[in-house]
Formats: sequence, C-alpha cells, structure tokens
Amino acid sequence: GTTRPQVRIVIVGHVDHGKSTLVGRLLHETGSLPEGKLEMLKAVSARRGMPFEWSFLLDALQTERDQGITIDTTQIRFRTRSRDVVLIDAPGHAEFLRNMITGASQADGAVLIIDALEGVRDQTRRHGYLLHLLGVKQVAVVVNKMDRVDFSAARFNAISKEISAHLTSLGVTPAAVIPISARDGDGVAERTAKIAWYKGPTVVEALDALEPARPLEQLALRLPVQAIYKFDDRRIVAGRVESGSLSAGDEIVIMPAGKIAKIRTVESWPVTPVRGRQGAGRSVGITLDRELFIERGDVIGHVGTSPRDTSRIRARIFWLHDKPLAKGDSILVRLGTRETRATVVAIEKAVDPGELSSVETKSIARNHVGEIDISLAHPMAADPYTENPRTGRLVIEVNGRIAGGGLVLSVDAGQRAIP
Ligand code: GDP
Repeated sequence: GTTRPQVRIVIVGHVDHGKSTLVGRLLHETGSLPEGKLEMLKAVSARRGMPFEWSFLLDALQTERDQGITIDTTQIRFRTRSRDVVLIDAPGHAEFLRNMITGASQADGAVLIIDALEGVRDQTRRHGYLLHLLGVKQVAVVVNKMDRVDFSAARFNAISKEISAHLTSLGVTPAAVIPISARDGDGVAERTAKIAWYKGPTVVEALDALEPARPLEQLALRLPVQAIYKFDDRRIVAGRVESGSLSAGDEIVIMPAGKIAKIRTVESWPVTPVRGRQGAGRSVGITLDRELFIERGDVIGHVGTSPRDTSRIRARIFWLHDKPLAKGDSILVRLGTRETRATVVAIEKAVDPGELSSVETKSIARNHVGEIDISLAHPMAADPYTENPRTGRLVIEVNGRIAGGGLVLSVDAGQRAIP
C-alpha cells in the first residue's frame, strides 16, 4: 500500500480561545477516538452533574499517556483524507522554542486560534511572532467561538483582515482563515448552514492541504565523514547518510576541500558489499577510485548539489548557558561530525521567549533566542536549515558542555568555486 504523508502541526493561541476544544473536536470528527471514549466521558460528566466539554477528551488522553496506559496515544494524532496529522505539544514557549530550534521536534504547519468575541490579543500577535521565529510557513488561522458573535461575517472579516496584516508583516502568509465553532462543530469538518457565507476550506480540509516535509531521502546527498579505516589495504570512508542516497559509480565532492572522486564500492558497516542505492539513515563505508586526503568532519555530496563551503554562518540559536553569549566570545561549533572553534562577530537580535519580545541585543541570556553571526576558525560544509534540516543545525559548546543550539539561517559561500 501507499504510505500516507505525515504532517506535524502545532496549535497555538491565547489561553481559553479554544485550543483543547478544537483538538477534541478534530479527534472526534476524523474518527480518531478509541471506541466508546466519547460516550464514556459524556456519561462521567452527566454523573457528576457537569456539562460535557470537548477539552475533557484531551485531558483524558493526556492522563492515559502520563500513566503509560495507552501506548498509541504517546502522540495525539488523527487522519484527514490524505494525511496523518501529528500534534506537537507546545508546553511553554521556552521549552517549545528549545525543542524546535535544536531539532528535537519540528512542525510542518501551525493552527493559530482566535476567539471571535475577544479578537486579536497581544498574546495572539506574539504567537504569530513565535511562528515567524520558528520558520513555520504554513499557518491556518481559525476564528473560533463564532457562535458567540452570531456567526457574523462582518466580525469574522474584521479579525481576518487584522491577523492577516500582522502575519504578512512577519513574512508568514496564512494559507486560510476559517470561521468555526469548535464547541458546536461548525467549520471544523463541515461548512454548516450557519457559515453558509464562508466559501473557504474547513479546518480538516486546511490540514489535509498541508505540505509534508520532503523525505530526507529526496534531498541532496549529505554524508558527514565519521572516520577513515584501513582494511585489507583499502581505505574505507565511514559515516551515516544524513540525506539523499548514494551508490557505487556516483561522482562525489568532498567538502570543504572540494575534491572530486567516484565511489568504487559501498559497504554496509563493517565490511559487506551492498548493492543498490543506500539512503538517509543508513550507516555505510565507501571506497573511492583514487587516494585523497579525507578526514573526519568532511561532508560528501554529489557533484552539482554539494554543500557550501563556508567560514561564516548566520544562525538562530537557543542559549542554555548561565553566562550570556556576547559579541567576541570564543565558542566551539559542532555541525555534523565536524567541530571547529569560532568567534561571535555579531549579535543581531535577542528574544525573550516568555514575552516573545525583542530584548537588548548586546548578549543572549540563558533560555533566550537570538540571531548571531559567527566566524569559523576553519571552513566547513554547511547548509541553511530550510534546505536541509540535518546539516542545517549546529550545537555550541563552551568549556566542553553544550551551551546552545540552533538553525543555520545562511552561509557565506567560500572563495572556492563550488563544483
Ligand atoms: P484553551 O485554553 O485554548 O485550550 O481553551 P479551551 O479549549 O479549554 O476552551 C476554553 C473555554 O472556551 C471552554 O470553556 C470551552 O468550552 C469554551 N469554548 C471553546 N470553543 C468554543 C466555541 O466554539 N464556542 C463557545 N461558545 N465556547 C467555546
């Protein structure tokens, strides 16, 4: 059978605007709830004499997850017509930003929720900014609780205009703005009579239209060199294919040196020849058709799509160290299998994730996010994270301890002509 594309989404919005209610509704409308779960919760509510709330579903699933009762609710997920949607937890801003920026989790898209009566609040605007910081480009806005404004098209249009202008100014163009009542179901999976004036997609349709991240195997080849081994007089270059694929006969480039060679054999580690293309995630050893100087930290790519050779990187980082990162600081940068000393030459901005506001830009404090320019003591191969999530992330060490991590925003291509 064909595998269904998976999209990972995050739902953000002002507290009480209806995130949990929407999730409960989505689970129900897409038929993703365990058999009898809804009826059980409704019965429990009735017995306790309290009205049923859709958010109870989420609470119940989370409790089971915490207690380890149900294995397949370790992640909240549901199916749309053509997608498997996985919900990423957005605990607090700081934790969420750290996870996203250091690569522990990655969202392909987001839903920004706004209470139709309350309208666009400061926290709503900050969440827009958060999505911008994280580079999440696919955003669906839902204007919730339309029942509280009598499903007024005028009210919806005013909010839609305000939030669209805000997001567009941040470079995040909403894919859709959708009027819904998460409580009653309007606009979630169906365009009901109450929103007959609305012609756009439902929430489920908007999620179904999200572009999944490109499979790593479809990206350009990146093989960071882990080690070189001598074996029966042959030199074997070992590493893990981080993206793309390779096979015997491929013309490759070794960066940052820019040397070209042909792959003679591919072995699965330790030493069994393998046939066919070896893709992302495989650990391999390769032999080449000529003797070249290669060392740990080099990155192998294909001729024409090799990584850039750079000695200057702009990165968006999450800082974890007690001592703030400042201009002029000497750090150790680890990217792929390479590590090199570097100097912070500029701090462009610093953001407090709690407030999601810019703070003074001379240094980046613990648990803050910032954009920095770093100058590397030795050139290395790197990619912007938008092109490659595996080789577009770096880790910063100070005194042998991880002090920060983040996304490569851009690289200054080196002087060497890129093959
Ligand atoms: P969260 O804090 O964003 O997760 O918000 P909740 O999902 O917990 O919802 C907050 C409150 O708003 C709850 O009392 C919900 O019942 C209520 N609520 C959520 N969606 C709707 C809606 O579509 N219409 C109305 N009238 N109330 C809603």
